[in-house]
Amino acid sequence: MTATSSPPLKARDVAVLVPAAGLGLRLGVGVPKALHELAGKPLLWHCWRNLTAAPSVGAIIIAAPPESLHLVTEIIPYATIQSDTAGDTVGTESETVVLVVAGGVTRRESVAAALAAAPAEFDIILVHDAARALTPPELIETVAEAVRSGHDAVIPGLPVIDTIKEVSADGRVVATADRAALRAVQTPQGFRREVLAKAHQLAPGEHTDDAGMVERLGVPVHTVAGDPRALKVTTPWDLVIAEAILRADG
Ligand code: C5P
Repeated sequence: MTATSSPPLKARDVAVLVPAAGLGLRLGVGVPKALHELAGKPLLWHCWRNLTAAPSVGAIIIAAPPESLHLVTEIIPYATIQSDTAGDTVGTESETVVLVVAGGVTRRESVAAALAAAPAEFDIILVHDAARALTPPELIETVAEAVRSGHDAVIPGLPVIDTIKEVSADGRVVATADRAALRAVQTPQGFRREVLAKAHQLAPGEHTDDAGMVERLGVPVHTVAGDPRALKVTTPWDLVIAEAILRADG
């Protein structure tokens, strides 16, 4: 096979917004969750390492706790803090630009701050929780490729194992959901930039994920198979599982 007949190298055409400004109250470790260490490295470091291992990722914009921006530049050596006055984005030692911005009081505000700082040349935007630090590069590529191939909004999901019931405020069962039709949704969630921007501009209220806002616009959201390693580290028990995953993956 000659060089000219080889498939073209995939462009680094994806920017990933990483909301990492949560306080991690349910984890109860006394530092923002993304800075808590797993196997000797902060969760955010594991997240960054997996993102940079995905060949499509050309920029990572981290929304960090406002008081911890410099700490993030110590965790990720070539990350650059993007302040209001610093117009330029960065020189970097790697092929992937890493910017750090101040996150907001809510996840939605953190994502919006990161989106505003995402370099304009990126049309495919993934939103990825720092707390899902062990998400494998393969899942990041799968979501990116689904957007690239024409879907405006893409989310990974896993079949639900438990039976899910809706209950009233006083604990009485109101309804039982059809488990076969349910998915436990993860990140990264992928979007055409204009779709995500419009959703953030127009969808009212708080949402636990970005796809929820896009659904409010009436835009179809496509699902792909999720990955158990993309679990969201939320409780101390999740840390035990995450450590086991790291050991199993070597
Ligand atoms: O609170 P929850 O676990 O749903 O947060 C999901 C992700 O959103 C986490 O990575 C967390 O750091 C981030 N987050 C944020 N800004 C907030 C709240 C949460 O970036 N104000």
